[in-house]
Amino acid sequence: MTLLIKDEYPEKLFREDGKRLDGRDLFELRPIKMEVGVIDNADGSAYIEWGNNKIYAAVYGPREVHPHHLAKPDRGILRVFYRMSTFSVFERKRPAPGRREKEISMIIGECLEPVLFLELYPGTSFEVFIQVIDADGGTRCASTTVASLALADAGIPMRSLVTAVAVGKIDGKLIVDLSGIEDKAGEADLPCAMTWFNNEFSLLQFDGDMTLEEYNECLDLATEALKKIYDLQKDALKRKYIDIQERISQQNEKNNQERGEE
Ligand code: UDP
Repeated sequence: MTLLIKDEYPEKLFREDGKRLDGRDLFELRPIKMEVGVIDNADGSAYIEWGNNKIYAAVYGPREVHPHHLAKPDRGILRVFYRMSTFSVFERKRPAPGRREKEISMIIGECLEPVLFLELYPGTSFEVFIQVIDADGGTRCASTTVASLALADAGIPMRSLVTAVAVGKIDGKLIVDLSGIEDKAGEADLPCAMTWFNNEFSLLQFDGDMTLEEYNECLDLATEALKKIYDLQKDALKRKYIDIQERISQQNEKNNQERGEE
């Protein structure tokens, strides 16, 4: 469980055996599971479990813009609503969206926008609703990753998926994929997102202290980690269609058997 009270932070973020507090090596990702098509009433949806983070994303669009004055005559708009549930963190979160949620919504929107063809959808909106059920560091990255899957699941034309991960520094060492406690008690945190159609970072949000060499090393570490997460995203998308294919084959087999019995 993430500790939020500064006095309660552990003095060291590494164990005696050199591993991180959750047993990971320096550049090891937390376990990540993703699934698409999890919400029937959305145009597209996805779910991610990333370490202790649990997050849903639901997508609607293209659809009419409400309120109307937000509509743009020459292009569509992307609206992202990142929300943390009151019960998602150790200290109850106030239900009304705070400044942090508004900022993260904006950041996720800026990460995702380059992959969408908004110019092809004048006067419409695409809406992404992200609900954090359980949070333990890196929720903006996990949310960006799962939101991009939900957009793909909605069948919205995209230049590529978007993948995000945070890298950083704790007790003088560079690490990949900060947990909540590492994020809070560490020296630096660098959430990064990558758009794969041009292999460019669409997010670099630095917080803390590190040298330029360390920063450059962090970008290399992030790139390696992002490739692994990208593979998991592609697997999650493929799995949905493999499951559909299997269900159709089973149904066809059943139909054939029934016909044979008649
Ligand atoms: N957090 C919390 N209460 C809050 C906001 C955040 O306990 O009101 C925790 C949560 O675990 C979150 C972590 O602090 O994942 C780091 O938050 P940050 O703002 O750095 O965003 P994130 O790392 O989740 O993108």
